[in-house]
Amino acid sequence: MAWEGSTRRARLPKDWPRTRRRILRRDGYECQTRFSDGRLCGLPANQVDHIEPGNDHRDANLQALCTWCHTHKSSSEGGTAAAHTRVRTHKPAPIHPALED
Ligand SMILES: [Zn+2]
Repeated sequence: MAWEGSTRRARLPKDWPRTRRRILRRDGYECQTRFSDGRLCGLPANQVDHIEPGNDHRDANLQALCTWCHTHKSSSEGGTAAAHTRVRTHKPAPIHPALED
């Protein structure tokens, strides 16, 4: 089972520009982000996002987003991985008992 993550952008389908235009048209060029209070963002959309990150490029997994929402969503997806890395790398190095006062 190959680990799928940072390389997914390189695997966008060949007809992605056409798919992207179709999704933007379908969603009326309006950002589809649904806030927790039920409101739709509705700002002019110029990005197409994968609702579930991965290689599912079907229309049902794609939505139009504004730049702000797309950046925010992508950074929180990446942020999870970064947080895991931070936990690993910032583990304090054990001090050898002989070096302790
Ligand atoms: Zn938005």
